[in-house]
Amino acid sequence: MSGLISRLPQQVANQIAAGEVIQRPASVVKELMENAIDARSTQIQIFIKEAGRSLIKVVDNGVGIAPEDMELAFQRHATSKIKSIDDLTKIVTKGFRGEALASIASIAQVEVISKTQNQPLGTFLGMEGGRVTKKEAMAAENGTSIGVKNLFFNTPVRRNFLKSNHREQQYILDEIYRLAISHCHVRFDVFEEDQELLHLPVATIKFRLRNIFGPKLKDNLLEIESETQIAKISGYILNPSMSKKRGIPQYFFVNKRYIRHPYLRHAILQAYEGLLPEKNQPGFFVFLEAPTNKIDVNIHPTKTEVKFEEIEHLYPILNSTVKYSLGIHHITPPIDFDKNPEFSVPHFFRDTTVEPPTIPIDPKYNPFRDVEGKPSEWSNRMSTDISQPQRNPKLVEIAPDPTIFQLFTGYIVYSNGSSLVVINQRRAHQRILFNKICQENPTDKISSQLLIFPITISLSVKQNNVLKEIQNTLSLAGFQIKIINNTSIEVLGAPAFCPMEKINFIIIELLDKALDEMPDQNHGVEHLIAKFLSKKLAISNNRELNELEQKELVRDLFSCSEYVMSPFNKKILISFDKDSLVNKFE
Ligand code: ADP
Ligand code: MG
Repeated sequence: MSGLISRLPQQVANQIAAGEVIQRPASVVKELMENAIDARSTQIQIFIKEAGRSLIKVVDNGVGIAPEDMELAFQRHATSKIKSIDDLTKIVTKGFRGEALASIASIAQVEVISKTQNQPLGTFLGMEGGRVTKKEAMAAENGTSIGVKNLFFNTPVRRNFLKSNHREQQYILDEIYRLAISHCHVRFDVFEEDQELLHLPVATIKFRLRNIFGPKLKDNLLEIESETQIAKISGYILNPSMSKKRGIPQYFFVNKRYIRHPYLRHAILQAYEGLLPEKNQPGFFVFLEAPTNKIDVNIHPTKTEVKFEEIEHLYPILNSTVKYSLGIHHITPPIDFDKNPEFSVPHFFRDTTVEPPTIPIDPKYNPFRDVEGKPSEWSNRMSTDISQPQRNPKLVEIAPDPTIFQLFTGYIVYSNGSSLVVINQRRAHQRILFNKICQENPTDKISSQLLIFPITISLSVKQNNVLKEIQNTLSLAGFQIKIINNTSIEVLGAPAFCPMEKINFIIIELLDKALDEMPDQNHGVEHLIAKFLSKKLAISNNRELNELEQKELVRDLFSCSEYVMSPFNKKILISFDKDSLVNKFE
């Protein structure tokens, strides 16, 4: 048998290779931004449409591409960044494999306009599926603009693997943040559907972080710094009070390249031991500078993994650098781990004042009233026939209306004549809220109370993005929110039963949760919000309810299509009918 093996056409080979470098729109954004940075740009603009599906355009003011190099730049293994294998040990640029542009061009329509300083005119190059469709001279600014349209147009399977626009947009922002944090000398402007999404002027690292993550984060940065022969470490770690279970920024850069390194990450986490509530993660922005010949970045096509030559020394150095910073900021573990209350307080509530619990007291209540001075009556009672049902005097006292009353503050006892129902008030309220937020009955909304003083909340751009998507659902839950700009919102109204001091925390926590768990294609987002809010806002089982409130709760519960189980699959009520009661006395 012969002739079974044939060489793949270049275009097919490029498409296959593209799978490794370009998994999603965010990979295109990353590669184009890295090229712009390698071209020594000081200003980079990024334009996104439909989360990068229909357009990604990166415009820079870098050195540009000479007309004769235009096509070459789109050939596989064509790079201006290394010439020989030795150069691999001296890499200071982001790219060096010469793969990105060839990969992108094989799976999209690409339009490039570029001009170097020495050329009077720029060059336009149009490509589709790896083939040049047009090339001509045209007037242009110094620098390069690369537009990528209809990504994956000729590889529908890959296109179908993409997630919701919201998710893809988050991935894009993640890539932008990584490069923006490690290149503060570059100005970044990001536009989504022609609207400015992010403006990051040239700034110190501290102010760049503030511009991305908001002022609260900036106020909690603790500087780290150390220099040894192995590496120079700098950057910031976050005060333990900022720690979170999920969604806390953790950035690790080696020679300005964002990388993942579980072992070195562990060195940082270990330094926080004893300082964080259980399962919480610390935030950090750590920059490592190491001699290029001591590290290997050529392990994976996406270049987010790095091998260090002296990793066993680097771990303790990084660990003690972080510990030192925590130490000089007087953040040390308590001597008695079990007894320090500071660390058992959830950090969300650290700044709130704690009010002493109020216990309803009936000053007239006298536990000995029945017995005092009446021993005969007491002994009479003791000697009554125990088979006789006894009236519990306390129940009668609490419930003047025999059909509905509150028992042990957490339960509503309700009788409609033929049966008796005991309702867990918190679970009932969770069910009611859940169904209202999911709009089981569209006319039945949670009423919103206007705030006399609207509450302003600073958000990160990511949080703000999520907010835009869930704003309608939040309004069903009674939160009236006005978006002021990309990083701040105003809460104008909130559900009447939501404590004022919690509004801020609830919204931020919800946005972070939605960011982490937003279901793909946005299906089920109402459920996610409804579950979260019904848990946060439902009345507690310690709350005393007046008769009207009790009746309202029972009425609202029974108007839900599901009233036996809570949204968390817990029993809301137990009921007895007359027969089962009678049977109990058989
Ligand atoms: P690599 O970055 O690994 O070299 P790419 O495929 O990303 O490979 O880019 C190929 C080449 O095209 C680069 O080496 C560079 O010479 C040129 N190039 C790409 N983008 C730009 C840009 N924005 N400005 C100037 N030159 C660029
Ligand atoms: Mg590149």
